[in-house]
Amino acid sequence: MVRILLRFSENIVEQPITAEIILALKVPINIIAAHVNSKGGEVLAEVPDAALEKVVTAYREKGATVSLPKLIEVDSEKCFSCGACVALCPVEAITLADDNSIVFNKEKCIGSTCGACVEACPARAIKSVKQGNSELANDLNPKK
Ligand code: SF4
Ligand code: SF4
Repeated sequence: MVRILLRFSENIVEQPITAEIILALKVPINIIAAHVNSKGGEVLAEVPDAALEKVVTAYREKGATVSLPKLIEVDSEKCFSCGACVALCPVEAITLADDNSIVFNKEKCIGSTCGACVEACPARAIKSVKQGNSELANDLNPKK
């Protein structure tokens, strides 16, 4: 499965776009997190690798923006193991190891749709970063 970040503008946010794409393409789309209101919103979704291209095309045709979600990066030099990020993370993607170092599980992180740890860190040791330089990232984040 591949995680993609969908952005819906105010003009289209009330349309049942995801339901229409699931029905039209017969592809399972798993919603991981959503921050949506009448002004628009962001949805983090998982789609099967094999269906990625046609799902991305379908969302774009319906006016949504599709990109790879940003994840986080922890600067262990700045971290002083206060645990604030651990306590706030809604999906237990950050834990403290026995030696009090931070352990980050990118498979669990819901990335830029959350960002709670980035805001909370008193040492500013956590930043939001783009996923690697894979061809996939380039495909989904074309240079304008
Ligand atoms: S961005 Fe959110 S989900 Fe990811 S590690 Fe930070 S608090 Fe957890
Ligand atoms: S909030 Fe910042 S300083 Fe505290 S444990 Fe997390 S990364 Fe380290």
